[in-house]
Amino acid sequence: MADCPMFLWPKFLTEEQDGSFGYVMDLRPPDYTDFPAILNRKDRKGQRVEFASTETMIAAALNLVNAFRALHRKGLSYQDLNDGNFFINIDTGAVLICDNDNVTPDGDVNSGGIGGKPGYMAPEIVTGKAQPSERTDCHSLAVVLFKLFFRHSPLQGAAYEKLPCMTEKREMELFGTNPVFVYDPDDDTNRPVNGVHNNVIKLWPLFPAFFKDAFVLSFAQGMKAPQRRIVENEWQKILVRLRDEWYVTCVSCGRAIFLHPENKEAGLRCGGCGSQSTYPRSLSIKKGALVYTVPLFPAKKLYDWHTTESSEDFITITGEVVMNKNNPSLWGIKNCSNEAWRMVTPDGTAKEVPAEGAVPIGAGVKVIFNGLDGIITQ
Ligand SMILES: [Zn+2]
Repeated sequence: MADCPMFLWPKFLTEEQDGSFGYVMDLRPPDYTDFPAILNRKDRKGQRVEFASTETMIAAALNLVNAFRALHRKGLSYQDLNDGNFFINIDTGAVLICDNDNVTPDGDVNSGGIGGKPGYMAPEIVTGKAQPSERTDCHSLAVVLFKLFFRHSPLQGAAYEKLPCMTEKREMELFGTNPVFVYDPDDDTNRPVNGVHNNVIKLWPLFPAFFKDAFVLSFAQGMKAPQRRIVENEWQKILVRLRDEWYVTCVSCGRAIFLHPENKEAGLRCGGCGSQSTYPRSLSIKKGALVYTVPLFPAKKLYDWHTTESSEDFITITGEVVMNKNNPSLWGIKNCSNEAWRMVTPDGTAKEVPAEGAVPIGAGVKVIFNGLDGIITQ
């Protein structure tokens, strides 16, 4: 795993002395921030902590998921993911994970006996019914992702607030024997409380249904049925969809504008500078059983994943929505790949779109990529 730079691995073990040993690690680089500071939006010195952009926040989530995918692929489990053992670079989204002495072959129990931290541990570990494993890691990962996007804990709602102090018995009930997700569609006993849990109440409606459904699956069904929890390669696809489909970037001020396709008539209004625009057209690409829909707004990217049939490459950019230099009201999809695309206009005229060329954005225009077809819709 030394080939995995996202993990801050021990460099040397010290010699055993009286039955114990220590290890030497690199210090956390100064440009990485701890998770509690990110959640509180300020560090211990009171300095404001904010991701450089929405894209950077999603990149951090993807990097975290990728780190766990690499770990689990090697048959290891982490066992103690919590807010104290990873760090994020808020300018780039890079992630560092440390405290790796808890990493063990999946199924083994860590000799240190660490089960995890309350609120992050899977309920079957809290109740003592199961040992840490890849599936319990999946629960902890979903908790971290929920906290990252909604700045709140998935199990802290009305039921949690009811009692003024947390006893061990109560903790066992809320996190172990009867955990209830704050947005469980079938159980509203633990909904977030107005005036107390304002972050999650404000943020939950901003996100698209497919993303919220992933947490409902993880925490409503997956709480008691570990096999229903979302594994890393599914999270990758969900997060990539979020990056590509959930928002556009304001042309005037660079802030994210979240899309609500159910409310297209209202158009788009930037919450930062107030600029208005009509709701963007989108490119729908059918890939396998799923249709990906990328809003065609300046700076939005297509990735190899969108344009090559068998690709799982979410990183390499193959297209970008650009504005015509001489006439900014004319938009096109620039071909940033090395392959020529083909386009077919609604009247049936076919044309090649070479590398560096652009497809004008108009309703009904078809684009034929590397084995995948897209169509621009209103
Ligand atoms: Zn703006």
